[in-house]
Amino acid sequence: MEHAYDYLIIGGGMAGDAAAKAIRAADAAASIGLVSVETSPPYERPPLSKALWKGDKTPEAIDLGTAATGATLHLGRRVQSLDRASRRVGDDHGDGYRYGRLLLATGATPRPLPFAGGDRAIAFRTLDDYRRLRRHAVAGAHVAVVGGGFIGSELAASLRGVGCKVTLLFPGASIGSGRYPPALSAFLDDYYRERGVELLSGVKAVDGKESHDGVELVLSDDRRLRVDAVAAGLGVTPDTALAAQAGLEIADGVVVDGQLRTSDPHIWAAGDMANFFNPSLGRRLRVEHENAAVEMGAHAGRAMAGAGGDFTTLPYFYSDLFDLGYEAVGLLDARLQVVEDWSEPHRKGVVYYLDDGRVRGVLLWNVWGQVDAARELIAQAGPWQPASLRGRIPHDG
Ligand code: NAP
Repeated sequence: MEHAYDYLIIGGGMAGDAAAKAIRAADAAASIGLVSVETSPPYERPPLSKALWKGDKTPEAIDLGTAATGATLHLGRRVQSLDRASRRVGDDHGDGYRYGRLLLATGATPRPLPFAGGDRAIAFRTLDDYRRLRRHAVAGAHVAVVGGGFIGSELAASLRGVGCKVTLLFPGASIGSGRYPPALSAFLDDYYRERGVELLSGVKAVDGKESHDGVELVLSDDRRLRVDAVAAGLGVTPDTALAAQAGLEIADGVVVDGQLRTSDPHIWAAGDMANFFNPSLGRRLRVEHENAAVEMGAHAGRAMAGAGGDFTTLPYFYSDLFDLGYEAVGLLDARLQVVEDWSEPHRKGVVYYLDDGRVRGVLLWNVWGQVDAARELIAQAGPWQPASLRGRIPHDG
């Protein structure tokens, strides 16, 4: 079957949803199509590792309501070809889609476990993954969480919250090492252990075997771990294959200009897979967080509908780790000069990441409502000294 849309969006994540809404707000009469590999319509992704486990939200409640824009949703379909000359894409069901303007919002694919997983060994990313894991993650079940990044640290806490026995294993020295100052990472390790999470640091999962009633993991130190289920967060790879096949410029993601337009004037890109310039940091970035997906999706949608203006937002991100939480902006890289300003050590405070006198990142640890202040600080030329930064961002509203 052949379809034709004024605006076609490839990707049914949060960026795709935000773009559909922005296009509709700018252009009431346009036809909008959205093609997604996932069988669920676009949904909020952060609750998959957080709120759904606490019972704060249900899977039905995280639906983003994209269909209300009037966009036609083509779900469970993978776009396999993109012909820029004829402005047509083709999917894996044999359907074709002509477009006036196209948004690539294909996101990213989780790095796989080093063995064939099934129902009980899951590289965690989607609502389907959540549903599969939830079936096995009952109280008393033993779940191994592989990877100590965002998904690993959030899921380990969430799984403990529903009464699972949790083993968290990761190659680094401690949770968030490389991202947080060493003393904060060490504090987090203790915090997780006190809450019953078994930590195995300095190891990787190198092999494994899933059977009908469990998974046996083989670790890089030759240990074997028998568990009921495995959830992995090993990082992601941006989905740029389609863009590359179509000859678009790629450099750690699809390269876009200030308007989030690719090297083809009819094609834009947003979210995890887009590489954009941020003026505050003075460099190109690719950001794999909700705020980037939503802000870039909306900006791309407006730009596709003819609005001017560059995308200058520095995306923020946040995390919940048991009853700790934070918001952060910019680069959290512990190799930079780290300035810690605690009002209560490791419970409440601000961490600044300095590079040659400029603030490149700000971690707001249990400090709320200061994201814009952090953005402003990163935009300033400085130069900053540690002493001039301490107290700069207040810890209480
Ligand atoms: P991530 O934060 O990049 O963490 C990946 C983790 O996997 C790191 O701890 C890494 O260790 C570890 N790792 C890599 N290879 C491994 C192996 N073979 N065995 C064991 N561990 C291994 O990525 P993620 O947690 O998978 O999250 C996926 C994406 O979702 C990211 O883009 C993330 O930003 C996003 N996300 C964001 C949030 C949020 O904003 N709150 C929440 C969930 C997910 P090393 O660092 O030592 O290599």
